[in-house]
Amino acid sequence: MSYKQLQHAVWITLLILSLQSCALLEKDTVDARHKIVVSYETAQTTTGDAIFQIVKEGKDLEVLSDALSSRIRMPQDLPVVFKDLKVYNAYYNPQEKNITMDYWVIAYFANALYNMTPLSDEDLIEAVENISTFIALHETGHAFIDLLSLPALGNEEQAADEFATLQLLQTGQGDKALIAAITFFSMYYQNQNQQPGTNVIQYSDEHPLDIQRYYNIVSLIYGSNPAKYEFLVTQGLLPEARAKRSEYDYQEKTQRWNEALADYIR
Ligand SMILES: [Zn+2]
Repeated sequence: MSYKQLQHAVWITLLILSLQSCALLEKDTVDARHKIVVSYETAQTTTGDAIFQIVKEGKDLEVLSDALSSRIRMPQDLPVVFKDLKVYNAYYNPQEKNITMDYWVIAYFANALYNMTPLSDEDLIEAVENISTFIALHETGHAFIDLLSLPALGNEEQAADEFATLQLLQTGQGDKALIAAITFFSMYYQNQNQQPGTNVIQYSDEHPLDIQRYYNIVSLIYGSNPAKYEFLVTQGLLPEARAKRSEYDYQEKTQRWNEALADYIR
């Protein structure tokens, strides 16, 4: 090999290496991990501040968000911003591609819970964290349906619940938040039924807290592991007739979501 040939070979090798590193660089950019970014604005009101002090210390939502971000490839970051708005709502904004969590919707549920059952401060704080986590995950369901342009998965409220429930069950750390949320909702319905005409603020117009939504969630939890969650039936949180379909229902929904998310799972 002449010097010139050698020089050429070296040059080609360097070119290939640089192209490869470019390709690697590009791949890294495409695969750059977008994340769910949770933040908490300071509150101006006493009620807002009480909730702010609790949720900013909770770590469940961050842990679950990280688990989700590392399982599902996202086209961009998804901000989840807790704010002191006094609008009693939590929502995903499809134009801005972010989630707003009003401290007051959490305060409303915490208050409802406190009025229904005597709780120690510690239990109340934990309940606030768990309810907040479930609501945030439900909104994340709306966000993923939009961000990933997921095919129609039926009623979007139900789809967002399914997403939140399956993710909470499958990430392994979430069933605590789920059980707390459904136990709360169960009490909430019973209480509403006992006090017809009570003036209650609905958690947003688009999120009717109907009993059907509740049973769908409980059925999915039970269906994921009937032996582990048998208490849901024995304690009357899920009717036996419904429980018979739960396992099949869970498998079918899991498969449907896995198919819908297939292109985005890492
Ligand atoms: Zn919703």
